[in-house]
Amino acid sequence: MMLIRVAIVLAVTVVSINVSAQDQSADNVVTVKAAVDAYRQDREAEILEDFVELLSIPNVATNLSDMERNAEHIVGLLESRGLKTQRLSAGGAPYIYAALNKPGATETILIYAHFDGQPVQEENWAYPPFSPTLLDGSVKAGAQAIDIAGVSGSFHPDWRLYARSAGDDKMPIVALVHTLDALAANGIPLTVNLKLLLDGEEEQGSPTIARIIEENASLFDADLLLFCDGPMHQSRQAQLVFGVRGSTTVDITTYGATRPLHSGHYGNWAPNPVIQLTHLLASMRDESGRILVDGYYDDVAPLSELERDAIANMPDVTETLKNELSIHTPEGDGKRLEELISLPAINVRGIQAGGVGADGRNIVLSTATASLDLRLVPDQTPKRAVELVKAHLAAQGFHVVFEEPTADILRAHEKVAKLDWHDAGYPALRTALDQPMSLRLTELMRLIAPDLIVTPTMGGSLPLHEFGSRLDAPIIILPFANHDNNQHAENENIRLKNIWDAMQIYGAVLGSFGNR
Ligand SMILES: [Zn+2]
Repeated sequence: MMLIRVAIVLAVTVVSINVSAQDQSADNVVTVKAAVDAYRQDREAEILEDFVELLSIPNVATNLSDMERNAEHIVGLLESRGLKTQRLSAGGAPYIYAALNKPGATETILIYAHFDGQPVQEENWAYPPFSPTLLDGSVKAGAQAIDIAGVSGSFHPDWRLYARSAGDDKMPIVALVHTLDALAANGIPLTVNLKLLLDGEEEQGSPTIARIIEENASLFDADLLLFCDGPMHQSRQAQLVFGVRGSTTVDITTYGATRPLHSGHYGNWAPNPVIQLTHLLASMRDESGRILVDGYYDDVAPLSELERDAIANMPDVTETLKNELSIHTPEGDGKRLEELISLPAINVRGIQAGGVGADGRNIVLSTATASLDLRLVPDQTPKRAVELVKAHLAAQGFHVVFEEPTADILRAHEKVAKLDWHDAGYPALRTALDQPMSLRLTELMRLIAPDLIVTPTMGGSLPLHEFGSRLDAPIIILPFANHDNNQHAENENIRLKNIWDAMQIYGAVLGSFGNR
Protein backbone atom coordinates (compact mmCIF):
# COMPACT_ATOMS: atom_id res chain seq x y z
CA MET A 1 0.00 0.00 0.00
CA MET A 2 2.66 2.46 1.11
CA LEU A 3 4.96 1.49 -1.77
CA ILE A 4 2.21 2.09 -4.27
CA ARG A 5 1.55 5.51 -2.80
CA VAL A 6 5.21 6.47 -2.85
CA ALA A 7 5.40 5.36 -6.45
CA ILE A 8 2.44 7.52 -7.37
CA VAL A 9 3.88 10.56 -5.63
CA LEU A 10 7.19 10.15 -7.37
CA ALA A 11 5.76 9.45 -10.75
CA VAL A 12 3.09 12.01 -11.36
CA THR A 13 1.90 15.55 -10.90
CA VAL A 14 1.35 17.98 -8.05
CA VAL A 15 -2.33 17.07 -8.11
CA SER A 16 -1.42 13.50 -7.34
CA ILE A 17 0.79 14.60 -4.48
CA ASN A 18 -2.18 16.37 -2.96
CA VAL A 19 -4.35 13.32 -3.46
CA SER A 20 -1.68 11.23 -1.82
CA ALA A 21 -1.40 13.61 1.12
CA GLN A 22 -5.12 13.32 1.55
CA ASP A 23 -4.87 9.55 1.45
CA GLN A 24 -2.21 9.64 4.11
CA SER A 25 -4.27 11.81 6.34
CA ALA A 26 -7.27 9.53 5.74
CA ASP A 27 -5.09 6.58 6.71
CA ASN A 28 -4.02 8.46 9.80
CA VAL A 29 -7.65 8.97 10.87
CA VAL A 30 -8.41 5.29 10.33
CA THR A 31 -5.35 4.35 12.39
CA VAL A 32 -6.30 6.69 15.22
CA LYS A 33 -9.87 5.42 15.21
CA ALA A 34 -8.75 1.80 15.36
CA ALA A 35 -6.32 2.56 18.17
CA VAL A 36 -8.95 4.35 20.25
CA ASP A 37 -11.46 1.55 19.62
CA ALA A 38 -9.02 -1.18 20.62
CA TYR A 39 -7.96 0.68 23.74
CA ARG A 40 -11.57 1.24 24.76
CA GLN A 41 -12.64 -2.36 24.09
CA ASP A 42 -10.14 -3.55 26.67
CA ARG A 43 -11.32 -1.03 29.26
CA GLU A 44 -15.06 -0.54 28.92
CA ALA A 45 -15.77 -1.43 32.55
CA GLU A 46 -13.06 0.95 33.77
CA ILE A 47 -14.40 3.82 31.66
CA LEU A 48 -17.96 3.20 32.85
CA GLU A 49 -16.86 2.99 36.47
CA ASP A 50 -15.11 6.35 36.06
CA PHE A 51 -18.27 7.78 34.58
CA VAL A 52 -20.38 6.34 37.42
CA GLU A 53 -18.11 8.05 39.94
CA LEU A 54 -18.57 11.44 38.27
CA LEU A 55 -22.32 10.98 37.84
CA SER A 56 -22.68 10.03 41.51
CA ILE A 57 -21.85 13.61 42.57
CA PRO A 58 -25.14 15.57 42.60
CA ASN A 59 -24.89 18.55 40.27
CA VAL A 60 -27.87 20.86 40.50
CA ALA A 61 -26.22 24.21 39.74
CA THR A 62 -27.94 26.14 42.53
CA ASN A 63 -26.19 23.93 45.10
CA LEU A 64 -22.77 25.55 45.04
CA SER A 65 -21.10 23.10 47.43
CA ASP A 66 -22.14 20.17 45.17
CA MET A 67 -20.80 22.05 42.15
CA GLU A 68 -17.50 22.59 43.96
CA ARG A 69 -17.27 18.83 44.60
CA ASN A 70 -17.91 18.19 40.91
CA ALA A 71 -15.28 20.74 39.92
CA GLU A 72 -12.73 19.21 42.27
CA HIS A 73 -13.36 15.74 40.88
CA ILE A 74 -13.12 16.91 37.27
CA VAL A 75 -9.93 18.87 37.96
CA GLY A 76 -8.47 15.61 39.29
CA LEU A 77 -9.44 13.77 36.09
CA LEU A 78 -7.86 16.45 33.93
CA GLU A 79 -4.66 17.10 35.89
CA SER A 80 -3.83 13.40 36.02
CA ARG A 81 -3.77 13.56 32.18
CA GLY A 82 -1.35 16.46 32.21
CA LEU A 83 -3.82 19.27 31.60
CA LYS A 84 -3.22 22.52 33.44
CA THR A 85 -6.45 23.63 35.04
CA GLN A 86 -7.81 26.83 36.45
CA ARG A 87 -11.01 27.34 38.43
CA LEU A 88 -12.87 30.38 37.09
CA SER A 89 -15.71 32.12 38.86
CA ALA A 90 -17.58 35.38 38.44
CA GLY A 91 -19.90 35.04 41.41
CA GLY A 92 -21.87 32.00 40.27
CA ALA A 93 -21.12 28.29 40.09
CA PRO A 94 -17.54 27.31 39.19
CA TYR A 95 -16.23 27.01 35.65
CA ILE A 96 -13.17 24.95 34.81
CA TYR A 97 -10.60 26.01 32.26
CA ALA A 98 -8.01 23.46 31.20
CA ALA A 99 -5.25 23.40 28.62
CA LEU A 100 -2.88 20.87 27.16
CA ASN A 101 -0.22 22.40 24.95
CA LYS A 102 1.40 20.40 22.22
CA PRO A 103 4.83 21.84 21.42
CA GLY A 104 4.95 22.75 17.76
CA ALA A 105 1.20 22.68 17.22
CA THR A 106 0.02 25.72 15.31
CA GLU A 107 -3.68 25.42 16.03
CA THR A 108 -5.84 25.28 19.13
CA ILE A 109 -9.17 23.59 19.62
CA LEU A 110 -11.39 24.81 22.44
CA ILE A 111 -13.99 22.32 23.64
CA TYR A 112 -17.04 23.40 25.63
CA ALA A 113 -19.20 21.12 27.79
CA HIS A 114 -21.09 21.58 31.05
CA PHE A 115 -21.13 19.55 34.22
CA ASP A 116 -24.22 20.89 35.97
CA GLY A 117 -27.63 19.31 35.51
CA GLN A 118 -31.31 20.11 35.78
CA PRO A 119 -33.04 19.65 39.14
CA VAL A 120 -34.47 16.16 39.71
CA GLN A 121 -37.80 14.89 40.97
CA GLU A 122 -36.47 11.67 42.38
CA GLU A 123 -39.89 10.02 42.80
CA ASN A 124 -40.32 9.98 39.01
CA TRP A 125 -37.07 8.11 38.35
CA ALA A 126 -36.97 4.33 37.93
CA TYR A 127 -33.50 4.37 39.59
CA PRO A 128 -32.12 7.14 41.82
CA PRO A 129 -30.68 9.92 39.61
CA PHE A 130 -27.37 10.09 41.47
CA SER A 131 -26.93 6.31 41.79
CA PRO A 132 -25.97 5.66 38.16
CA THR A 133 -27.45 2.37 36.94
CA LEU A 134 -26.52 0.41 33.81
CA LEU A 135 -29.51 -1.24 32.11
CA ASP A 136 -29.52 -3.77 29.29
CA GLY A 137 -31.61 -1.43 27.14
CA SER A 138 -34.22 1.25 27.63
CA VAL A 139 -36.08 1.58 30.93
CA LYS A 140 -39.30 2.05 28.94
CA ALA A 141 -38.85 -1.43 27.46
CA GLY A 142 -38.47 -2.93 30.94
CA ALA A 143 -34.68 -3.35 30.77
CA GLN A 144 -32.83 -5.02 33.66
CA ALA A 145 -30.04 -3.57 35.79
CA ILE A 146 -26.51 -4.87 35.20
CA ASP A 147 -23.59 -4.93 37.62
CA ILE A 148 -20.76 -3.23 35.72
CA ALA A 149 -18.03 -5.04 37.64
CA GLY A 150 -19.69 -8.39 36.91
CA VAL A 151 -19.60 -8.04 33.13
CA SER A 152 -16.96 -10.19 31.51
CA GLY A 153 -16.03 -9.10 28.01
CA SER A 154 -17.57 -6.25 26.14
CA PHE A 155 -20.68 -4.27 26.95
CA HIS A 156 -23.54 -4.31 24.45
CA PRO A 157 -23.48 -0.94 22.63
CA ASP A 158 -27.23 -0.51 23.09
CA TRP A 159 -27.05 -0.78 26.88
CA ARG A 160 -27.68 2.49 28.65
CA LEU A 161 -26.36 4.18 31.73
CA TYR A 162 -29.10 5.98 33.69
CA ALA A 163 -28.29 9.07 35.79
CA ARG A 164 -28.79 12.83 35.82
CA SER A 165 -26.36 14.39 33.31
CA ALA A 166 -25.45 11.05 31.72
CA GLY A 167 -26.59 12.57 28.41
CA ASP A 168 -26.52 16.25 29.26
CA ASP A 169 -23.65 16.88 29.63
CA LYS A 170 -20.97 15.09 31.67
CA MET A 171 -20.22 12.47 29.03
CA PRO A 172 -17.85 14.57 26.90
CA ILE A 173 -15.58 15.01 29.95
CA VAL A 174 -15.22 11.28 30.57
CA ALA A 175 -14.99 10.44 26.86
CA LEU A 176 -12.28 13.05 26.37
CA VAL A 177 -10.01 12.01 29.24
CA HIS A 178 -10.16 8.36 28.20
CA THR A 179 -9.45 9.36 24.60
CA LEU A 180 -6.33 11.16 25.82
CA ASP A 181 -5.33 7.94 27.61
CA ALA A 182 -5.93 5.94 24.44
CA LEU A 183 -3.80 8.28 22.35
CA ALA A 184 -1.00 8.32 24.93
CA ALA A 185 -1.03 4.53 25.27
CA ASN A 186 -0.68 4.17 21.51
CA GLY A 187 2.02 6.81 21.18
CA ILE A 188 -0.24 9.00 19.03
CA PRO A 189 0.70 12.65 19.54
CA LEU A 190 -1.83 15.44 19.72
CA THR A 191 -1.79 17.48 16.51
CA VAL A 192 -3.40 20.53 18.12
CA ASN A 193 -3.32 22.40 21.39
CA LEU A 194 -6.35 21.48 23.47
CA LYS A 195 -8.34 23.88 25.64
CA LEU A 196 -11.46 23.13 27.63
CA LEU A 197 -14.14 25.32 29.09
CA LEU A 198 -16.41 23.35 31.40
CA ASP A 199 -19.48 25.26 32.54
CA GLY A 200 -20.94 24.69 36.02
CA GLU A 201 -24.11 26.69 35.50
CA GLU A 202 -25.37 26.02 31.97
CA GLU A 203 -28.78 24.82 33.12
CA GLN A 204 -29.21 28.17 34.89
CA GLY A 205 -28.57 29.93 31.59
CA SER A 206 -24.83 30.45 32.29
CA PRO A 207 -25.52 33.81 33.96
CA THR A 208 -21.85 34.69 34.48
CA ILE A 209 -20.32 33.26 31.31
CA ALA A 210 -20.04 36.65 29.61
CA ARG A 211 -17.92 37.93 32.49
CA ILE A 212 -15.93 34.69 32.64
CA ILE A 213 -14.99 35.10 28.98
CA GLU A 214 -14.37 38.84 29.17
CA GLU A 215 -12.22 38.66 32.29
CA ASN A 216 -10.14 35.79 30.88
CA ALA A 217 -10.31 36.54 27.17
CA SER A 218 -6.71 35.52 26.44
CA LEU A 219 -7.36 32.02 27.82
CA PHE A 220 -9.94 31.36 25.14
CA ASP A 221 -7.84 32.17 22.08
CA ALA A 222 -8.54 29.30 19.72
CA ASP A 223 -8.94 28.43 16.06
CA LEU A 224 -12.11 26.42 16.52
CA LEU A 225 -14.67 26.11 19.30
CA LEU A 226 -16.41 22.75 19.50
CA PHE A 227 -19.60 23.05 21.49
CA CYS A 228 -20.25 19.54 22.82
CA ASP A 229 -23.80 19.61 24.15
CA GLY A 230 -27.23 18.51 23.06
CA PRO A 231 -28.76 15.45 21.43
CA MET A 232 -27.85 13.99 18.06
CA HIS A 233 -30.14 13.41 15.12
CA GLN A 234 -33.02 10.95 15.55
CA SER A 235 -31.46 8.67 12.92
CA ARG A 236 -28.47 8.08 15.28
CA GLN A 237 -26.13 9.18 12.44
CA ALA A 238 -23.17 11.35 13.41
CA GLN A 239 -23.95 15.03 13.15
CA LEU A 240 -22.38 18.48 13.02
CA VAL A 241 -24.58 21.48 13.72
CA PHE A 242 -23.48 24.89 12.54
CA GLY A 243 -26.00 27.18 14.18
CA VAL A 244 -28.65 27.89 16.76
CA ARG A 245 -31.61 30.21 16.86
CA GLY A 246 -31.78 33.21 19.17
CA SER A 247 -34.65 33.82 21.50
CA THR A 248 -36.67 36.34 23.41
CA THR A 249 -40.07 36.21 25.13
CA VAL A 250 -42.88 38.70 25.64
CA ASP A 251 -46.34 38.83 27.21
CA ILE A 252 -49.03 40.98 25.59
CA THR A 253 -52.05 42.09 27.64
CA THR A 254 -55.15 43.74 26.19
CA TYR A 255 -57.80 45.63 28.17
CA GLY A 256 -61.58 45.94 28.33
CA ALA A 257 -63.54 47.76 31.04
CA THR A 258 -61.81 48.11 34.42
CA ARG A 259 -64.17 45.49 35.93
CA PRO A 260 -65.76 42.38 34.39
CA LEU A 261 -69.25 43.14 33.02
CA HIS A 262 -72.39 40.98 32.66
CA SER A 263 -72.28 39.63 29.10
CA GLY A 264 -76.06 39.87 28.75
CA HIS A 265 -76.31 43.47 29.86
CA TYR A 266 -73.06 44.69 28.28
CA GLY A 267 -72.12 42.20 25.54
CA ASN A 268 -71.72 43.90 22.12
CA TRP A 269 -71.05 47.18 23.95
CA ALA A 270 -68.17 46.47 26.33
CA PRO A 271 -64.84 46.09 24.48
CA ASN A 272 -63.77 42.44 24.72
CA PRO A 273 -60.03 42.02 25.46
CA VAL A 274 -60.04 38.36 24.34
CA ILE A 275 -61.33 39.33 20.91
CA GLN A 276 -58.84 42.20 20.68
CA LEU A 277 -56.03 39.83 21.62
CA THR A 278 -56.97 37.02 19.24
CA HIS A 279 -57.34 39.46 16.35
CA LEU A 280 -53.99 40.95 17.25
CA LEU A 281 -52.32 37.51 17.31
CA ALA A 282 -53.91 36.62 13.98
CA SER A 283 -52.51 39.84 12.56
CA MET A 284 -48.98 38.86 13.67
CA ARG A 285 -48.70 35.43 12.07
CA ASP A 286 -50.84 33.33 9.73
CA GLU A 287 -51.80 29.69 10.17
CA SER A 288 -48.77 28.45 8.25
CA GLY A 289 -46.39 30.27 10.63
CA ARG A 290 -45.58 33.13 8.24
CA ILE A 291 -44.95 36.27 10.28
CA LEU A 292 -47.05 39.23 9.14
CA VAL A 293 -45.31 41.90 11.21
CA ASP A 294 -44.08 44.56 8.80
CA GLY A 295 -40.32 44.34 8.13
CA TYR A 296 -39.85 41.21 10.24
CA TYR A 297 -37.98 39.31 7.52
CA ASP A 298 -35.81 42.29 6.45
CA ASP A 299 -32.86 41.23 8.62
CA VAL A 300 -33.18 37.50 7.89
CA ALA A 301 -30.09 36.20 6.09
CA PRO A 302 -31.16 33.75 3.38
CA LEU A 303 -29.75 30.22 3.42
CA SER A 304 -26.70 29.78 1.22
CA GLU A 305 -26.73 27.25 -1.58
CA LEU A 306 -24.50 24.96 0.51
CA GLU A 307 -26.92 25.21 3.41
CA ARG A 308 -29.87 24.39 1.16
CA ASP A 309 -27.99 21.36 -0.21
CA ALA A 310 -27.14 20.22 3.32
CA ILE A 311 -30.80 20.37 4.30
CA ALA A 312 -31.82 18.47 1.18
CA ASN A 313 -29.32 15.75 2.12
CA MET A 314 -30.57 15.33 5.68
CA PRO A 315 -32.77 12.32 6.45
CA ASP A 316 -36.37 13.47 6.04
CA VAL A 317 -38.22 12.81 9.28
CA THR A 318 -41.51 14.40 8.22
CA GLU A 319 -43.58 11.22 7.85
CA THR A 320 -42.12 9.63 10.99
CA LEU A 321 -42.96 12.72 13.00
CA LYS A 322 -46.45 13.01 11.51
CA ASN A 323 -47.16 9.41 12.50
CA GLU A 324 -45.60 9.69 15.93
CA LEU A 325 -47.42 12.93 16.74
CA SER A 326 -50.71 12.32 14.89
CA ILE A 327 -50.38 15.43 12.74
CA HIS A 328 -52.26 15.61 9.44
CA THR A 329 -50.80 18.85 8.11
CA PRO A 330 -47.74 20.54 9.60
CA GLU A 331 -47.43 24.30 9.39
CA GLY A 332 -45.04 25.73 6.81
CA ASP A 333 -46.83 25.15 3.49
CA GLY A 334 -45.04 21.89 2.80
CA LYS A 335 -41.50 23.13 3.54
CA ARG A 336 -39.23 20.75 5.44
CA LEU A 337 -38.83 21.03 9.20
CA GLU A 338 -35.11 21.77 8.75
CA GLU A 339 -35.86 24.68 6.45
CA LEU A 340 -38.62 26.07 8.67
CA ILE A 341 -36.36 26.16 11.72
CA SER A 342 -33.93 28.30 9.75
CA LEU A 343 -36.62 31.00 9.72
CA PRO A 344 -37.82 33.22 12.57
CA ALA A 345 -40.88 32.03 14.47
CA ILE A 346 -43.48 33.63 16.67
CA ASN A 347 -44.90 30.96 18.93
CA VAL A 348 -47.97 31.63 21.05
CA ARG A 349 -46.98 29.64 24.10
CA GLY A 350 -50.02 30.43 26.22
CA ILE A 351 -53.18 32.50 26.56
CA GLN A 352 -54.76 33.44 29.85
CA ALA A 353 -58.23 34.93 30.11
CA GLY A 354 -61.32 34.04 32.16
CA GLY A 355 -62.22 30.39 32.59
CA VAL A 356 -63.59 27.43 30.64
CA GLY A 357 -65.79 24.46 31.54
CA ALA A 358 -66.91 24.65 35.16
CA ASP A 359 -64.94 27.91 35.51
CA GLY A 360 -66.76 29.64 32.64
CA ARG A 361 -68.72 32.75 33.60
CA ASN A 362 -71.03 34.87 31.44
CA ILE A 363 -68.93 38.01 31.59
CA VAL A 364 -66.95 40.31 29.37
CA LEU A 365 -63.46 40.22 30.88
CA SER A 366 -61.22 43.11 31.88
CA THR A 367 -57.96 41.70 30.53
CA ALA A 368 -56.51 38.95 28.37
CA THR A 369 -52.85 38.00 28.12
CA ALA A 370 -50.88 36.02 25.56
CA SER A 371 -47.32 34.83 26.12
CA LEU A 372 -45.07 34.60 23.05
CA ASP A 373 -41.66 33.20 22.43
CA LEU A 374 -39.82 34.67 19.50
CA ARG A 375 -37.19 32.48 17.85
CA LEU A 376 -34.65 34.57 16.00
CA VAL A 377 -32.27 33.75 13.15
CA PRO A 378 -29.24 35.54 11.68
CA ASP A 379 -29.07 38.58 11.39
CA GLN A 380 -32.05 39.52 13.58
CA THR A 381 -31.48 41.09 16.98
CA PRO A 382 -33.85 40.88 19.94
CA LYS A 383 -33.87 44.68 20.13
CA ARG A 384 -35.05 45.04 16.54
CA ALA A 385 -37.70 42.32 17.03
CA VAL A 386 -39.07 44.26 20.01
CA GLU A 387 -39.22 47.48 17.97
CA LEU A 388 -41.04 45.77 15.11
CA VAL A 389 -43.60 44.12 17.38
CA LYS A 390 -44.19 47.44 19.11
CA ALA A 391 -44.66 49.20 15.77
CA HIS A 392 -47.04 46.46 14.68
CA LEU A 393 -49.21 46.94 17.76
CA ALA A 394 -49.32 50.67 17.10
CA ALA A 395 -50.27 50.03 13.47
CA GLN A 396 -53.15 47.87 14.72
CA GLY A 397 -54.44 50.87 16.67
CA PHE A 398 -53.07 49.97 20.12
CA HIS A 399 -51.62 52.47 22.53
CA VAL A 400 -48.58 50.54 23.80
CA VAL A 401 -47.54 50.68 27.45
CA PHE A 402 -44.90 48.83 29.44
CA GLU A 403 -46.52 49.12 32.86
CA GLU A 404 -50.04 48.50 34.10
CA PRO A 405 -52.15 51.26 32.45
CA THR A 406 -54.01 53.70 34.71
CA ALA A 407 -57.76 54.31 34.42
CA ASP A 408 -56.95 57.62 32.72
CA ILE A 409 -54.83 55.93 30.07
CA LEU A 410 -57.58 53.37 29.40
CA ARG A 411 -60.19 56.14 29.21
CA ALA A 412 -58.05 58.15 26.80
CA HIS A 413 -57.27 55.40 24.21
CA GLU A 414 -59.47 53.24 22.02
CA LYS A 415 -57.24 50.18 22.52
CA VAL A 416 -54.39 49.64 24.98
CA ALA A 417 -51.80 46.83 25.00
CA LYS A 418 -49.14 46.22 27.61
CA LEU A 419 -45.84 44.58 26.62
CA ASP A 420 -43.84 42.66 29.24
CA TRP A 421 -40.44 41.63 27.94
CA HIS A 422 -39.15 38.90 30.24
CA ASP A 423 -35.56 38.96 29.18
CA ALA A 424 -33.14 40.84 27.01
CA GLY A 425 -32.99 37.79 24.77
CA TYR A 426 -30.09 36.95 22.52
CA PRO A 427 -29.43 36.67 18.79
CA ALA A 428 -28.88 33.54 16.73
CA LEU A 429 -25.55 32.27 15.48
CA ARG A 430 -24.70 30.41 12.28
CA THR A 431 -21.22 29.42 11.14
CA ALA A 432 -20.83 29.21 7.37
CA LEU A 433 -20.48 25.67 6.02
CA ASP A 434 -17.69 26.80 3.71
CA GLN A 435 -15.66 28.48 6.45
CA PRO A 436 -12.21 26.75 6.26
CA MET A 437 -12.57 25.18 9.74
CA SER A 438 -16.08 23.98 8.83
CA LEU A 439 -14.79 22.31 5.69
CA ARG A 440 -11.86 20.65 7.46
CA LEU A 441 -13.95 19.33 10.32
CA THR A 442 -16.68 18.09 7.99
CA GLU A 443 -14.11 16.27 5.88
CA LEU A 444 -12.48 14.72 8.95
CA MET A 445 -15.80 13.60 10.39
CA ARG A 446 -16.81 12.00 7.08
CA LEU A 447 -13.75 9.75 7.29
CA ILE A 448 -15.10 8.34 10.56
CA ALA A 449 -18.80 8.58 9.75
CA PRO A 450 -19.47 8.61 5.99
CA ASP A 451 -23.18 9.18 6.65
CA LEU A 452 -22.44 12.36 8.63
CA ILE A 453 -25.42 14.72 8.85
CA VAL A 454 -24.54 18.36 8.26
CA THR A 455 -27.14 20.58 9.90
CA PRO A 456 -26.94 24.31 9.10
CA THR A 457 -28.90 25.23 12.22
CA MET A 458 -30.84 23.58 14.96
CA GLY A 459 -34.22 24.92 15.92
CA GLY A 460 -33.47 25.41 19.58
CA SER A 461 -31.66 28.31 21.15
CA LEU A 462 -28.33 28.39 22.92
CA PRO A 463 -26.55 31.58 23.97
CA LEU A 464 -23.64 30.89 21.63
CA HIS A 465 -23.46 34.59 20.80
CA GLU A 466 -21.80 35.00 24.22
CA PHE A 467 -18.86 33.24 22.59
CA GLY A 468 -19.47 34.41 19.05
CA SER A 469 -19.45 38.08 19.97
CA ARG A 470 -16.33 37.80 22.16
CA LEU A 471 -14.12 35.20 20.45
CA ASP A 472 -12.71 35.00 16.95
CA ALA A 473 -12.98 31.23 16.65
CA PRO A 474 -15.75 29.79 14.50
CA ILE A 475 -18.23 27.74 16.56
CA ILE A 476 -19.47 24.30 15.58
CA ILE A 477 -21.80 22.15 17.66
CA LEU A 478 -20.73 18.54 18.01
CA PRO A 479 -23.53 16.62 19.75
CA PHE A 480 -22.90 13.13 21.15
CA ALA A 481 -25.97 12.13 23.19
CA ASN A 482 -28.64 9.79 21.87
CA HIS A 483 -31.74 11.79 20.88
CA ASP A 484 -33.80 9.74 23.34
CA ASN A 485 -31.53 10.51 26.32
CA ASN A 486 -34.43 12.12 28.25
CA GLN A 487 -32.33 15.16 29.06
CA HIS A 488 -33.82 17.52 31.67
CA ALA A 489 -36.46 14.88 32.55
CA GLU A 490 -36.55 11.74 34.69
CA ASN A 491 -34.64 8.62 33.58
CA GLU A 492 -31.95 10.57 31.74
CA ASN A 493 -29.56 8.15 30.09
CA ILE A 494 -26.70 7.66 27.66
CA ARG A 495 -26.46 4.80 25.20
CA LEU A 496 -23.01 3.19 25.47
CA LYS A 497 -22.37 3.37 21.72
CA ASN A 498 -22.68 7.14 21.94
CA ILE A 499 -19.81 7.23 24.46
CA TRP A 500 -17.64 5.00 22.29
CA ASP A 501 -18.44 7.11 19.20
CA ALA A 502 -17.55 10.29 21.10
CA MET A 503 -14.13 8.78 21.90
CA GLN A 504 -13.54 7.97 18.21
CA ILE A 505 -14.38 11.51 17.20
CA TYR A 506 -12.27 13.12 19.92
CA GLY A 507 -9.44 10.80 18.91
CA ALA A 508 -9.67 11.85 15.28
CA VAL A 509 -9.91 15.55 16.13
CA LEU A 510 -6.97 15.53 18.55
CA GLY A 511 -4.85 13.04 16.64
CA SER A 512 -5.48 14.24 13.08
CA PHE A 513 -7.04 17.68 12.81
CA GLY A 514 -3.77 19.62 13.00
CA ASN A 515 -2.19 17.55 10.23
CA ARG A 516 -4.93 18.32 7.75
ZN1 LIG B 1 -26.74 20.59 27.96
